[in-house]
Amino acid sequence: MGRKSNMINFNVPPYTGKEIEYMKEAVQNQKICGDGPFTKKCSEWIEAKTGTAKCLLTTSCTHATELAALLADIKEGDEVILPSYTFVSTADAFVLRGAKAVFVDIRPDTMNIDETLIEDAVTDKTRVIAPVHYAGVGCEMDVIMDIADRHHLMVVEDAAQAIMASYKGKALGTFGDFGCFSFHETKNFSMGEGGALLIRDKRYVEKAEIFREKGTDRSKYFRGEVDKYRWQDYGSSYLPSDMNAAYLYAQLELADEITQARMNRWNQYRELLTPLADEGRIELPYIPPHCKHNAHMFYIKTKDMEERTRLDAFLKERGVHAVFHYIPLHSAPAGRKYGRFHGEDRYTTRESERLFRLPMFYTLTEDEVTYITDQVKAFYR
Ligand SMILES: *Cc1c(COP(=O)(O)O)cnc(C)c1O
Repeated sequence: MGRKSNMINFNVPPYTGKEIEYMKEAVQNQKICGDGPFTKKCSEWIEAKTGTAKCLLTTSCTHATELAALLADIKEGDEVILPSYTFVSTADAFVLRGAKAVFVDIRPDTMNIDETLIEDAVTDKTRVIAPVHYAGVGCEMDVIMDIADRHHLMVVEDAAQAIMASYKGKALGTFGDFGCFSFHETKNFSMGEGGALLIRDKRYVEKAEIFREKGTDRSKYFRGEVDKYRWQDYGSSYLPSDMNAAYLYAQLELADEITQARMNRWNQYRELLTPLADEGRIELPYIPPHCKHNAHMFYIKTKDMEERTRLDAFLKERGVHAVFHYIPLHSAPAGRKYGRFHGEDRYTTRESERLFRLPMFYTLTEDEVTYITDQVKAFYR
């Protein structure tokens, strides 16, 4: 056994080497609050890379989603359709505005919302569909956008895990009215805590900037468009520091390299674990042919929760820190209070109990992946 002193963590925050230099530059610019040169560089980079009309950097993906809920003018009693298998933020942002979360089952192959079940959950109170691109693998956006168009609903994409990933050649986060990225330390690119709001239609930009700047037109003031800034509307503080943006910019500059490094490890995992999958012992992730993923996550599925618990203990003994993921929201106390599950929970609970994420990060080595897969194979032998 014996790897314990040298544990392979589940995640190591991405670091390329240039972050400190850029943060020092931000400090020397004497512009450490928001909307400085690095905030601008990051936003422009994301706009160019994804093709979105406008990107606003935020203090988190949760806050980007809250901004989307404010822009969608979500009110008490409105309903939002989302998967139960997601992070709390997808629901929180809307529930905070008084909306009810309506959970729909997921597809067992991608763990994304089952697009064929959405329409049946639409009521006259439905305002938004919030698909989550789990593991950076796209939801069926053509179907979802068609339902939204026909029922006059807005779409807010939780693309927290999905930067650099696409569906039919178009960047995830750019299909819906709003798309939300995360730059938390567990994501492919990071700024510690941070995120971005992608806005498809430019007519929302002014309002978004006001909500992000405590309800003021300070963004306009900084651009010299008005000679003083004033309280224009309600709002909050969702603008990140330029020091954090500087950290992120170092990683955006190396985005292709970081993604390729992750992709190499992802493909190695898949190759080395395919024999076990062929024997029917485990299941591997499925990537629909029209989706380009970003190697955000590599997971396997065990037979059931009991087997996963044993595998977890086996790997920890051997110095590998792997983790399971979401407890379905509808089964949690707040989920019962603020939401309801529409239709049957065929896959959400069952599949969430089997899913097990293996270590995945920028600096994970080929030898480490070989070691990890050897241990998984040893468990099943
Ligand atoms: C990470 C994550 C979030 C939250 O991102 P923060 O930047 O930490 O607010 C939301 N949704 C999903 C699916 C995530 O993976």
